[in-house]
Amino acid sequence: MQFSAVIGNERIKSLLAETIRAGRVSHAQLFVSDEGVGALPMAIAYAQALLCPNRTPEGDACGECANCYKMNRLEHPDCNFIFPVNKSKKAKATGRSDDKPTSDQFVHLWRELIIKTGGYISEEQWYNYIGLENQQGNINKEEANEIVRKMSFKSVQGGYKIVIMWLPEKMNEAAANTLLKLIEEPAPGTLFIFVSEQPDRVIATIRSRTQITTLAPLPQKFIAEYLYNEGIENGARIAQAAGGSLSRALELSRNEFQSEDFERFAALMRKGYTMKYGELFEWAESMAGIGREAQKMFCENSLAILRDCYLTSLNLAEITFVNPQTEKFINAFSPYTNHLTIEHFIREFELLLSHIRQNGNAKIIFSDFALKISKIIKAAK
Ligand SMILES: [Zn+2]
Repeated sequence: MQFSAVIGNERIKSLLAETIRAGRVSHAQLFVSDEGVGALPMAIAYAQALLCPNRTPEGDACGECANCYKMNRLEHPDCNFIFPVNKSKKAKATGRSDDKPTSDQFVHLWRELIIKTGGYISEEQWYNYIGLENQQGNINKEEANEIVRKMSFKSVQGGYKIVIMWLPEKMNEAAANTLLKLIEEPAPGTLFIFVSEQPDRVIATIRSRTQITTLAPLPQKFIAEYLYNEGIENGARIAQAAGGSLSRALELSRNEFQSEDFERFAALMRKGYTMKYGELFEWAESMAGIGREAQKMFCENSLAILRDCYLTSLNLAEITFVNPQTEKFINAFSPYTNHLTIEHFIREFELLLSHIRQNGNAKIIFSDFALKISKIIKAAK
């Protein structure tokens, strides 16, 4: 991620670039912003600029060298990411006791979500993404031990060795004490970037040893512009309600899409059921015109609706329906989302999502998709 991909806060970008140029990079830094404002993407861009040997005249990473290639995938061996986690079925098994999971077990999901969102995420969004249900994440002593171990190796590329810790306020005292020595007596070339939304809750012994950079909330017009470029209508109104947070703005627009997407989903299934191909193609055509971000949200919302239908077909009654209209449709459609068909439905929606991401011809993608859905329903009848 380059500085150019970080929205706003231009003055901070140039100050950070200047510290690199002047060789005055402080070894422990605390980046502060409200949720979804961009301290995390700023930290990643800073790390990338430090690791890139071919910086631009403005001090940004080149985006093209081998180091940048690895940073773009968040796979650079000299840049470690630490974030709050907890027990979850989505953790990658390590053979160790999974009672006290560490970031490594979730790093595949971290890369996926950060690349998808550009790093504009909320804490809640992260916990949902890694399947924590109602638990909170934390940064424990095992994690701190792991950091100490990793930082004891020489850097792979011979340059900086960086730890980016998102939400150090989730670190307990034992973990902080373990890290303290690394921060008080840093080995040459090590850099800790802590990215906090609540700096007052970061353990004081750590906080007091960092240099603090505070990001300003994003101007409304930047958020509106971003939403517009993502094909989201009503961007200006949503930006106004988002209070300078891009992740909040995206969440608001997601909610708005939810009821609209329900209508789209229901229409697809009805037309698929009656196998009126002309109407299916009309549906596909209208979907092709709603913009890529809206298309992606449609896929995600549809997967959630499918899940509700499937649970209903299993008579799992704990689901709460939002409104009677939704409930009526889900009850009627659930017989078609049984154990024989659900995987086929999910596979088609996931395939659709990946085709949208690859930026193919939307009309062809949606037409093809609608026909496949119709076939699944036909087979289920
Ligand atoms: Zn580069």
